[in-house]
Amino acid sequence: MSAAAPLNTPRCRGPSWHALRRAWLRPHAALVGLLMLTMVGLPVAAVAKARSVLVLYAFGRLLPANIEFDRAFREAISTTGLPPVSVFDEFLDQPRFANETNARVLARYLRDKYASQPPDIVVVAASEALLFLLQHRTELFPRVPVVHAAVSRSVLDSLASLPADVVGVPIEYDFSGTIEQALRWHPQARRLLIVTGSSTSDRRFEARLRAEAPRFRSRAAVEFLAGLPTDVLLQRLAELPRDSVVFTTGYFEDGDGREFTPRSSAEAMARVASAPIYGPFDTFIGTGVVGGRVPSFADMGRQSAEIVSALLAGVEPGALRLPPVMPNALAVDWRQVRRWRIDENMIPVAARVHFRDPTLLEEHGGIVLAATSVLLLQALLIGWLVFERRRRRLAEQATQKQRFELAHASRLAVVGELSASIAHQINQPLGAILANAEAAELMLESGGDCRDELQRILSDIRQDDLRAGEVIRHLRSLLEKHECERHLFALDAAARDVASLLQAEARRRRIGLEVRLPNTPAWVLGDRVQIQQVMINLILNAMDAVAEATASRRAVVFTLDSDAGSATVTVRDHGHGIPPQDQPRIFDSFFSTKEKGMGLGLAIARSIVETHAGRIWLDPIVGEGAAFCVELPLAVVAEEARAGSP
Ligand code: ADP
Repeated sequence: MSAAAPLNTPRCRGPSWHALRRAWLRPHAALVGLLMLTMVGLPVAAVAKARSVLVLYAFGRLLPANIEFDRAFREAISTTGLPPVSVFDEFLDQPRFANETNARVLARYLRDKYASQPPDIVVVAASEALLFLLQHRTELFPRVPVVHAAVSRSVLDSLASLPADVVGVPIEYDFSGTIEQALRWHPQARRLLIVTGSSTSDRRFEARLRAEAPRFRSRAAVEFLAGLPTDVLLQRLAELPRDSVVFTTGYFEDGDGREFTPRSSAEAMARVASAPIYGPFDTFIGTGVVGGRVPSFADMGRQSAEIVSALLAGVEPGALRLPPVMPNALAVDWRQVRRWRIDENMIPVAARVHFRDPTLLEEHGGIVLAATSVLLLQALLIGWLVFERRRRRLAEQATQKQRFELAHASRLAVVGELSASIAHQINQPLGAILANAEAAELMLESGGDCRDELQRILSDIRQDDLRAGEVIRHLRSLLEKHECERHLFALDAAARDVASLLQAEARRRRIGLEVRLPNTPAWVLGDRVQIQQVMINLILNAMDAVAEATASRRAVVFTLDSDAGSATVTVRDHGHGIPPQDQPRIFDSFFSTKEKGMGLGLAIARSIVETHAGRIWLDPIVGEGAAFCVELPLAVVAEEARAGSP
């Protein structure tokens, strides 16, 4: 560029630099361009001519079949992996412009339009487009391969021969298959109405249907409603008897010359018809038509795109392995199945079902799965909890049983401990009875009138007997083995019994047992014997604690106080007390400081009290002994209940 600079100056003579450059560049433009691109590093392939495909549609731009085809075709062609392909569309707008003059005008227009940039491949959609192209191919695109789509096999068969570079997969609209399907699903149908239009295309379908109709005459009366004005047709369809089935190809033009697409005409029919309507095109699905055996226009678009890609990649048309025909599938609108009460079991599994409400599982599969899992987990958890609860209950029952056994054993031990005083308590009245009996004998021997004396003696004997009986009753109740009971009982009376049982023991041990009980009854719900056992344990422990004490301190105070909601039993002594380090352990099983102690008394007492929803605690009187307190909830009871309680 620096060497050229002087040439570019205004002082230079002769042709200017610009003129020289223009003169050289024009004939060598392509070469220069290629050179420049190579210099900046772009691949030569990138500047190769962009490929283009022309799709020539037989019908109008808005024909639903064309829209379906176009969408699938473009989508498939853009994902082939080939360099970008330009797709151009042209429409023959048949059947409205189906005449020779229009065809010539259109051919000229296409020739001029694509003269400078002919397509690499032409796709013709529908038979009319193929026929048009074959007729005008020499003047339009003589050496351009042609891919045909949506062309009936019958049309192809009718052609003398197809050039080798014209390829495609034909279709076979299954009119008869669709009608047979309809008659199967409506076994009560006795009339088959076939609706067609009045355009040339419509008439072609009508002709084919008239040729196929005789085969259905044994099943139903066949009637053609061909080329009627739409108003008249709709009126007829609205008044059809229930035993009718309609088949239609739709139409492009009605008897009044009004234009439709097959889809829009089918939709108008389905809106008013009093019988189910079937059709051979998948574009009818969603209009109110039940369904039919149909090829898919979207599949045709995809199939054509595959062929185009292969041809663009350099595959020879003759080397393509193509299916003989586009497959037809049974398509059905689920809403119409419901509406016309078609037996759902008759719908083949392979049918393409549209508009079926998704099942709960299909629609919210994730949520349903999650919810089911949660429920399952919950059920498992509940099952496990129930199992655990049962296991715990059994374990609790076993513990409870052991506790009773232990409490009973402990009572036996207490009775053993009290045996000397109990024997004394029984001996005392027995001795008194004996003395009284001997006194009575002497009186009788003396022979005097001693009836009054004898009566007093007998009364004393009865009293002594009752006393001895009472001691034995206490003893029996302590020795009895019974399950934990829940009765209403007067705590003060139970305490009084305990006090009388232990008075003798206290005397034996030369200990003062001071008893302070209230005059008003304190009602408690629970096991009388077990609560008595607690009181006996506490009093005996207190007696043990003062055993070594001086005479002045050899006393135990047994009190019962009650307030509005609870009653408190307190056993206080002035014995050796409990050292602070032992205090946290005294309610533990097997904790004992006594030589022959088992260390179970307080543990059992606490378990009994807690079973009665009460509490037991130590109230240490530093240096002065100990006080044990038992608090029990008072029962709220009716007067009658108290009367029947022990
Ligand atoms: P045991 O009487 O067989 O030892 P307990 O469970 O009834 O079992 O008592 C546990 C321990 O608590 C006793 O060994 C004693 O050291 C202490 N204890 C209980 N009551 C008193 C009390 N009133 N004064 C001092 N120590 C006590």
